[in-house]
Amino acid sequence: MAAVTYQSTWMNEELRTFRKTVRQFLLEEFAPHHPRWCQQHRPDAEAWTAAGRVGMLLTDVSEEYGGAGGTFGQEAVVIEELAQAGINFGSSVHSIVAHYILAYGNPEQKRKWLPRMARGELVGAVAMTEPAAGSDLQGIKTTARRDGEHYVIDGSKTFITNGSLAGILCLAVKTDPRAPGLKGMSLLIVEAADLPGYRVGRSLEKVGRHAQDTCELFFDAVRVPVSNLLGSGEGQGFAQMMQQLPFERLAVGVGAVATAEQAVAITTKYVKERMAFGKPLIDFQNARFKLAECKTEAHVGRVFLDNCIERYLAGQLDPVTAAMAKYWLTDCEWRILDECVQLHGGYGYMTEYPIARMWADSRVERIYAGTNEIMKEVIPATKLSETQGSRVNDSSRPESAAATLRLETRCAIGPAREAIGNRSGFLAGSSIEPNTRGGAPESDIRPW
Ligand SMILES: Cc1cc2nc3c(=O)[nH]c(=O)nc-3n(C[C@H](O)[C@H](O)[C@H](O)COP(=O)(O)OP(=O)(O)OC[C@H]3O[C@@H](n4cnc5c(N)ncnc54)[C@H](O)[C@@H]3O)c2cc1C
Repeated sequence: MAAVTYQSTWMNEELRTFRKTVRQFLLEEFAPHHPRWCQQHRPDAEAWTAAGRVGMLLTDVSEEYGGAGGTFGQEAVVIEELAQAGINFGSSVHSIVAHYILAYGNPEQKRKWLPRMARGELVGAVAMTEPAAGSDLQGIKTTARRDGEHYVIDGSKTFITNGSLAGILCLAVKTDPRAPGLKGMSLLIVEAADLPGYRVGRSLEKVGRHAQDTCELFFDAVRVPVSNLLGSGEGQGFAQMMQQLPFERLAVGVGAVATAEQAVAITTKYVKERMAFGKPLIDFQNARFKLAECKTEAHVGRVFLDNCIERYLAGQLDPVTAAMAKYWLTDCEWRILDECVQLHGGYGYMTEYPIARMWADSRVERIYAGTNEIMKEVIPATKLSETQGSRVNDSSRPESAAATLRLETRCAIGPAREAIGNRSGFLAGSSIEPNTRGGAPESDIRPW
């Protein structure tokens, strides 16, 4: 039987047309500016409004709130095209903020923020990580104290994607610092423009993703209206994060597979052209075997990803399967990229070669959106049958959210962590220091 080209089952004519539009837009409007964005460590603000005009933002948000009225299919196409073009642009994080507002905002909040986000006038950032709280979110120290009709916010955040351009933050705070663990955590929407007491630190120097602005944020008695709280009351932040995990984890998986596929394509071309010992590299068995392994792994990843996308579209992707996807697909991507760099020899280490940039850009995917180690702590807590689609687990339903909350809290992460010693100075010249507290984490999540 002749080879049949594999088609993702969720792909359709409408999405193919959309893909063409996005690809053309990225080629003409983003790619020429990307090297400059890398130097300035952020895209131009106009890039966001241009992305809004072409319909690349909030693609799965209903038209009622200014979105494109599509599905996760459109979101996936945008992520894939950005990954394959090698362009660092934080539209996934922007979408995550929109999803929080969509899920927990009241109609007034949705009308106020979502249309402007869809137009790219308001750039979204998710602000959870702090110097002393990464995987272990219960350690956040940023507080929001109620003062009449306002919250007064004090604290700082770090590693925040879209930080310098963000006009709207989905901010994790402790509204009740005395409540144990994660119970006192809430999510507040902060409109950042001209906000007294709010300061954006420098863009952090990263190994890759140079065009994406990753910043520290500081809050000094910042006043935010009480009406900016997400949800019906304080203390719901942790449960809200739980419910949003499948979207975030799946989005990372989409980028990982797209990058891996692109790496295989680039490297296949390279080994056909590069000569050594009088013949192309592809004539060496090692190159063929390595490529065969990479191609097979990328395809296995694609099929698993497509299954996850279908289940997400059907409202059936449970958080644990999403964790499997996030961990396995990004590990798989990393294995493939490393082999592809190796097949490029020294050129694979030169940043003028796309494979080198892809390698550097992708490394963080095993770290953010919940580290892969944290994902592996989540997965064993369920029976295999529970993640194979044998039952509907609609994480948008309140009872399902409660079950997820119980599950994720129950499978709490392992034994008490050893104090990891004084690592200050690990970010030379930075005002930030990692958490060096010991103790057993109560939660297993780390959305971003
Ligand atoms: C480029 C970039 C962009 C980011 N963007 C955002 C953003 O937009 N918003 C945001 O809020 N955050 C963001 N982050 C932060 C990111 O989510 C955290 O870096 C990540 O969650 C890990 O936290 P940490 O860095 O404090 O590492 P730690 O939590 O200190 O972890 C260090 C190591 O210990 C391991 N570890 C920790 N606890 C356990 C455990 N219980 N069991 C086993 N292993 C464990 C981890 O897996 C890791 O290998 C970003 C980070 C980067 C690098």
